[in-house]
Amino acid sequence: MQEFAGELRLSKKTIGFVPTMGYLHQGHMSLVQESKARSSCTVVSIFVNPTQFAPNEDLAKYPRDLKKDCLLLENAGVDVLFFPDAQEIYPEGFDTYIYPDSLSRIHEGEFRPIHFRGVCTIVGMLFNIVKPHFAFFGQKDAQQAAVIKRMCTDLKFDLEVVVCPIIRENDGLAMSSRNVYLAPKERQQAVKLYESLLHAQKLISEGVRNTNRIVEEMIQIIKGIENHKLDYIRIVNAVNFSEVEMLKTGADYYILIACRVGVTRLIDNELIRF
Ligand code: AMP
Repeated sequence: MQEFAGELRLSKKTIGFVPTMGYLHQGHMSLVQESKARSSCTVVSIFVNPTQFAPNEDLAKYPRDLKKDCLLLENAGVDVLFFPDAQEIYPEGFDTYIYPDSLSRIHEGEFRPIHFRGVCTIVGMLFNIVKPHFAFFGQKDAQQAAVIKRMCTDLKFDLEVVVCPIIRENDGLAMSSRNVYLAPKERQQAVKLYESLLHAQKLISEGVRNTNRIVEEMIQIIKGIENHKLDYIRIVNAVNFSEVEMLKTGADYYILIACRVGVTRLIDNELIRF
């Protein structure tokens, strides 16, 4: 892969890169489409990265379907699928990690302390292998995209990070490989995450600026999910992810939500622009 990417660069091709953990859906494919529109060669990686899962998380049962993924990627006209072996990525003696700092300790980082260290380490490594000019990430994982942008700025990675919009199911549930874990009733009720985000948007459009009030009303909607555990709903500055009490004109915000439905942990968000 490294040699091939080197040759592409020598022949002045632009490389677009979409890192994934596989079990692909239309969310992933929207990143692929964006990459194809911007670059002459699109590389997709599939790697379920062990270092971003804590021991109590779902690494072993993370859904996999390589055959279907290959078909989707071929039909979409992807040039290269990079599907490395875990042994090759993390050989014996592997000892170097990329530790993101403050941005990785809040929100997702509070509930998944080693997560962003694993993400930055694998993404940084993949950037060195695939040598992309552009790398595409989903707004679905808004904090992840921000952590990676920060890493690229801080460590001077020579590429552009492009963040693409959230793709949703017909009823509004954000597409995710993890949605297959949901039992039918849980799947029905999971849409309340999106409904709570829509409600927040409505309150804001009606002039509500106090974030406590918005979060309180969102929690009431989430309470309609029978077997749920809400990790957090937070309204944050879209650049540094610090929590805000009052929305002000001229800034962008994310409304972030992380909630367990049954045993499945779901995240979603909405970008608020004034
Ligand atoms: P994953 O395979 O879950 O690690 O996701 C790979 C990439 O796809 C990440 O950049 C995600 O943010 C992005 N992604 C996942 N779900 C969606 C979605 N529903 N809409 C847009 N992008 C997504």
